[in-house]
Amino acid sequence: TSTDTSNDEDSSRSMRDFLDEMRAENIREHLRKFTRLPHLAGTKQNLRLAEEIKEEWLEYGLDSVEMVPYDVLLSYPNTTQPNYISIVDHLGNQVFNTSLAEPVPEGYENISDIVPPYNAFSAQGQPGDLVYVNYGRTEDFSQLEREMKINVTGKIVIVRYGKIFRGNKVKNAAFHGASGVVMFSDPADYCATGVQPYPDGWNLPGGGAQRGNVLNLNGAGDPLTPGYPAKEYTFRYRLEEGVGLPKIPVHPIGYHDAIHLLKNMGGPIPPNNWKGALNVSYRIGPGFTDTFQTQKVRMNIQTNNQVTRIHNVIGRVRGAVEPDRYVILGGHRDAWVFGGIDPVSGAAVVHEIVRSTGRLLRRGWRPRRTIVFASWDAEEFGLLGSTEWAEENAKVLQDRAVVYINADSAIEGMYTLRVDCTPSLHTLVYKVTKQVSSPEVGEEGMSLYESWHKRDNWTDDRDMTGPIWSLRKISKLGSGSDFEAYFIRLGIAAGRARYTKDKKTERYSSYPVYHSVYETFEVVDRFYDPSFQRLRAVAQVRGGLIFQLADSQLLPLDASQYADSLTKYAHSIAQLGQKHQDALITYGVSFDSLFSAVENFTTAASSFHERLKTLDRTDPLQVRMANDQLMYLERAFVDPLGLPGRPFYRHVIFAPSIHNKYAGESFPGIYDALFDIEHAANPRRAWEEVRRQISIATFTVHAAAMTLTPPA
Ligand code: GLU
Ligand code: CA
Ligand code: ZN
Ligand code: ZN
Repeated sequence: TSTDTSNDEDSSRSMRDFLDEMRAENIREHLRKFTRLPHLAGTKQNLRLAEEIKEEWLEYGLDSVEMVPYDVLLSYPNTTQPNYISIVDHLGNQVFNTSLAEPVPEGYENISDIVPPYNAFSAQGQPGDLVYVNYGRTEDFSQLEREMKINVTGKIVIVRYGKIFRGNKVKNAAFHGASGVVMFSDPADYCATGVQPYPDGWNLPGGGAQRGNVLNLNGAGDPLTPGYPAKEYTFRYRLEEGVGLPKIPVHPIGYHDAIHLLKNMGGPIPPNNWKGALNVSYRIGPGFTDTFQTQKVRMNIQTNNQVTRIHNVIGRVRGAVEPDRYVILGGHRDAWVFGGIDPVSGAAVVHEIVRSTGRLLRRGWRPRRTIVFASWDAEEFGLLGSTEWAEENAKVLQDRAVVYINADSAIEGMYTLRVDCTPSLHTLVYKVTKQVSSPEVGEEGMSLYESWHKRDNWTDDRDMTGPIWSLRKISKLGSGSDFEAYFIRLGIAAGRARYTKDKKTERYSSYPVYHSVYETFEVVDRFYDPSFQRLRAVAQVRGGLIFQLADSQLLPLDASQYADSLTKYAHSIAQLGQKHQDALITYGVSFDSLFSAVENFTTAASSFHERLKTLDRTDPLQVRMANDQLMYLERAFVDPLGLPGRPFYRHVIFAPSIHNKYAGESFPGIYDALFDIEHAANPRRAWEEVRRQISIATFTVHAAAMTLTPPA
C-alpha cells in the first residue's frame, strides 16, 4: 500500500499546483477577449469563437479538441419587420409603440448584430385586452381564476419577469386560454435599492429588457429531433409537431415601456403582493379604464424558427489508468449579446481551468481518468448543444461517465458561494472549498468554506426540518442549464457552483442586467468582481472538483449523503401527504414502504462505506468494482419510462419542477400526483396515481440500495 499512499500524496501536491496556477488576471483577459462581440448561437461570430477556443485548448496542451456540429431549430427576429407591441385606438391607429431596441452602452455603438430583445420561438401576433397576472405562476393564475373570478381566455396576459422560468409563465398563460403574453422587468425585481442603473451601477436601466426562450421542452433538446442527435441524416418533425413550441406570441419589454401599458389599465385593484415598484396602480384589467376603454393592445411579432447549424467544442485529456471513465466539465459559449456574465464569466473560468490543466500535463502529470471539456452551443435556445451531444453519446456516457460539472455564469452576486449538486457530491464540495481561499477583502487567511459557512448562516436554512440537517448549505439541482440531460435524463452525478448574492432575496430572479445588452465585460470588471478574485475562487472550486473526481484512486462520492437526502425528502413528501389524513385512510395510501426502502438504502450505504475502509487498494479490480458501484449509483435512480408525460425526465429522485424549470423537485412523481389533489375531478383516480408513484419511488430507492450491497 506504500505506493498508493505516495500516489495520493503526489495527487494532492498536484491539486495544490493546479489550483495555484489559476490567475485572476488571466480570467480577466479571457473575459475581455470573449465579450468583444455578440456571440448568438447560429451566427458566424459564435462559430469563430468556437474555432478560437479549439485552437487555444490545443495550444494549452489538451490531447484532442474537436468541433461537433448539429442542425437544430433556432429562432430569430425578422430583420426587416421588427417586433413591438402597440396600443391601438378604436380607429386602429397606433397611439403607443414599445421600443425596437435597447439603448446601446457607451463604447459599443459601432457593433452590429446586436439582436433586439425578443422571446425566442414566439408565435406570431394578434390584438386583445390586457390582464395583469403578477409573475404568471401557477398560484397567480389560480388566484386570478378562483378568487378574483377573472377569465383570461382570448386576453393578452401581462406578467412580470422573475421567480420562475419564463417558459412556465407562457405555458400557464396558454393553458388558461390567453392569446398572447407580454413580459416586463419590474424595478421591484430587477433594481436593487441604492444601486444606479448601468453604466453607473449594476441595475437594469428602464430601456433594458430580458431576452430568453419560452420553450417547454421537458428535456427534449432540439424540438424537431427528440431522442436522437440532430445530424444531417436525422429525421425531423414538421414545425407544427415540434416539442415545446408556444402557440401564442410572447414579447419582453423594459419598465419604461411597461409603464405605458400598465398605467391606464382598469379592473380590480390587485392584492398587495402583486404590486411592483412602478408608479402605476397594477390594476388587473381586463383592458383599460373609462376613457381608454376602446383601446386595444396589439402584438406585432415576426420572429421565425429556423433550422441552423451549431457547434460544440469537445476537448479531452486521456486518463492514465482508467481512460474509459469520463469526468466532464461543460458550459455554454453562446450568449444573447456580449454575455459578460452569462455565459462568459463561466466560459472564462473554464478557459483558465483548461490552461491550468495543460500546465500540469506539460510537467508530466496525467489524471487517472479521462477529463472531457465542453463548450456548448445554443444553451439559450433550450439547452440544445449539450442535449444533442448527450443524445449522440448516450450509450457511451451511460456506461462510462462518472460526473458532469456545469460551468455556466460563474457569478450572479457579490456575496458568497452557491452550490447545487447531487447529494453524493456534498462531501467533496466541502473538502474542496476548504482548500480554496475566501476571495473577500478582510477575509485573508479564511477558507472559502468558512466564509461561505459564516455568510450563509447554515443553521437557519429554510430547507431544513430538523437538527440533523443543520449542517447543510447545498441545494438540489433544478434545471435551466446544460447539466439537465446528463443528470436528469442519463443519471450522471452532477453539480454546479457559482458566486451569488445574499440569498435573503429571491433565488430565481437572477441578476438585474440578465440577458440584456448591458451584460458587458465592464459590468463584471467594474461592479461584480473588480479584482477577479471571486471568479478565481469559482475556477478553483469547479477545477478542484474535476481534479479530485478525475485523479482520486477511489471516487470521492458519498452514498451516505444520498441516504441522508433521501430520508429528508421522504419526510417532506410524506408531510405533504399528511395534509390529507382522511383521504390517506379512505384510499389506503401509505408512505411506509418508501420509508422502509430509504432505511434499506441507508443501511446499504453505510455498510458500503464501512467496507471501503478495508478495501485492498493494491488490487485494481477491487478498486474498480467499488468505483463502479459509486459511479452507477446515480444511474440506479433512472426510470427508463420517465415521469408521467415527461419521457426525458427520468430521474426518480429529482426533476425540474413542473411549475418552475429552474427549481428542483424531490420525488417529483409523488409531488406532482399530490399537487392540488383537493381539486381533482376524480379523487379516487387521483389517489390511485399517488399510490402508483409511491410504489415507483419505493422500488427505485430499493433497487438503488441493492446496487450498493456486496457484489457476491
Ligand atoms: N438558461 C437559459 C434561460 O434561462 C435557457 C434555459 C432553458 O432553456 O432551460 O433562459
Ligand atoms: Ca435531438
Ligand atoms: Zn447561461
Ligand atoms: Zn442565459
